[in-house]
Amino acid sequence: MLSNIRQVLVLVNTIIEILREHGIPATPQRIAIAEYVLSARTHPSADDAWTAVKKKHPTVSRATVYNTLNLLVSKRLLKTHLLQEGITVFDPHVDHHHHFIDESTGEIHDIEWDAIKVSGEDSLHGFEVHEYQVVMRGRKKK
Ligand SMILES: [Zn+2]
Repeated sequence: MLSNIRQVLVLVNTIIEILREHGIPATPQRIAIAEYVLSARTHPSADDAWTAVKKKHPTVSRATVYNTLNLLVSKRLLKTHLLQEGITVFDPHVDHHHHFIDESTGEIHDIEWDAIKVSGEDSLHGFEVHEYQVVMRGRKKK
């Protein structure tokens, strides 16, 4: 129990430091939003983040959550992906990687960049490729 409290304190202090380093004033609501989304492994949507943060901060507005997420994106602490129709998800894993969507649960899994080989992107005639990723759909084996 005590070690859990310590881990939470370390995490909160780290989040405050990260926000300060990026020039973002660390209000309690922003800390809670950043703590949730920067430690998320689930690729949450803005509404997922709002639902989660409201548990600790019932008065947090949807606008505050959206604005904070966009601020974190503008500081390159988060990436957005449109992996499923109409739903933007947030990803604290900002290095290049691919995604696998489990069709039965909707869960989005990170796939390491080197696990998949894509070829031919530099020889596409008439296109200058800046970025790409592979989005796979299927079922996660049990
Ligand atoms: Zn990801």
